[in-house]
Amino acid sequence: MGYTAVHAEWGRLDASLEDLGCGRSWADVHRVGGLELACPECRGRVFARLSSHRARHFYHQVRPETCALANESPEHHLLKLELATAARAAGFRAELEVSSATRNWRADVLVFDQQDRPFMALEAQLSPMTAQDAALRSRPEKLYGTGPDNLWALSAAQQAVTELKTGCTTGTIAKKDMDQLGGSVRWFNDHNPEVKALPVMMHPSRVSDAKATAVPGMRVVTPELFKKLKEAVTSYAAALASSPDRWANEQAVREQLAYHKLTGDRFFTTYAEPVRPL
Ligand SMILES: [Zn+2]
Repeated sequence: MGYTAVHAEWGRLDASLEDLGCGRSWADVHRVGGLELACPECRGRVFARLSSHRARHFYHQVRPETCALANESPEHHLLKLELATAARAAGFRAELEVSSATRNWRADVLVFDQQDRPFMALEAQLSPMTAQDAALRSRPEKLYGTGPDNLWALSAAQQAVTELKTGCTTGTIAKKDMDQLGGSVRWFNDHNPEVKALPVMMHPSRVSDAKATAVPGMRVVTPELFKKLKEAVTSYAAALASSPDRWANEQAVREQLAYHKLTGDRFFTTYAEPVRPL
């Protein structure tokens, strides 16, 4: 199942948009005999259909084993739609199931900035994954060849711009790594001038090299603080799992987030510290 399809003349169709993103309507594609629509991923033939939850989507005539779109779980499928809907509600243009020209990556949802440049890729993730997989997957750098390792919205007004330097073995933060974080903050400011950047680096050391210039306002997640963060997340999860249905209690979730200082305003003041000169 997917939300997108390709028509020879109309171009790309997005079932989550009222005009399908190409000035057409659902009636133009749903149960229309002889209409040729292709999967953007495998080019196999697809048809428009309503799910049992009334969600518009496209399904493959013959489900190919190799097509990533054909083999997504219904949960993943719905989560993608949630992500696109949330981005659109926040005032962004968002496209579902976007592949690069060379097909070396595909974003579940690609979000565009005010100048209509690709700005953020949102990924639905329901199966277990390692931290390393996560770092690879949420990389603007990988998508656009530039930009930070990771972006994280802390509030409507502030986002953390993160560089992951966990593999460093140096006792100090090297100039090139510091410059990279500075470059990512500039990239971010250029793409999203209304939002304030909080520069964050994950690094074994919080000490700046003598040659390096610290990025103003930056904070460092050191191994000690990362350990503290892991403990907080674990006890947060345990607290919510302690009785059935506690997960669904908004007030309980809010209290636990606040208690463990995992809210957007406390997170990096608690689990990261300022850089220190040598
Ligand atoms: Zn396909």
